[in-house]
Amino acid sequence: MAKFTLPKLPYSYDALEPYIDAETMRIHHTKHHQAYVDNLNLALDAYPKLQDKSLEELLKGLNKLPSSIQKKVQNHGGGHLNHSFFWQLMGPSSKATAPKGKLLKAIEREFGGHEAFKEKFAQTALGHFGSGWAWLSVNKGKLVIEDSANQDTPLSSGYTPILTLDVWEHAYYLKYQNRRAEYIGAWWNVVNWNQVVKNFSKLT
Ligand code: MN
Repeated sequence: MAKFTLPKLPYSYDALEPYIDAETMRIHHTKHHQAYVDNLNLALDAYPKLQDKSLEELLKGLNKLPSSIQKKVQNHGGGHLNHSFFWQLMGPSSKATAPKGKLLKAIEREFGGHEAFKEKFAQTALGHFGSGWAWLSVNKGKLVIEDSANQDTPLSSGYTPILTLDVWEHAYYLKYQNRRAEYIGAWWNVVNWNQVVKNFSKLT
């Protein structure tokens, strides 16, 4: 029985053009994300009790799961959670936003400003070797920029993410091929900072 389902995107597939192309968005959502959902459901099929738990609970307590499905929940559960989170963090560039309020103050205090933050985050995203994600997370009230491999989420190490960028090649290869730096540079145009502000304000 399928417990987890693919969430609808909060915008159309072409809404992020020209920065993220419609074909990439369509394949990323309907093929890649869908596969994480399907494989997560498959992994949990034999464990009805675990299906009552939220995805966050499962990923925060990976080491408490039966060993036969730990890796599957880490990969496919992480894939489902990370993509669901990632979609919310983007929006049409025509509605471009910027960090504000307490989040802007924290970014200024800890990174020296919005531009300096962007540079550090982009370096982390660019420097990540192989498939994975770049994150802006909160740990004990402090902002932390980090990267993770595969579909690992900062939640599993007790951090709470507020912004993320998918740096798997499937996120950019059709339009940018090997030019990850160009993809990262373009992505800033579609970041939905209102959502990041919301994520941050829940924690402070
Ligand atoms: Mn992806």
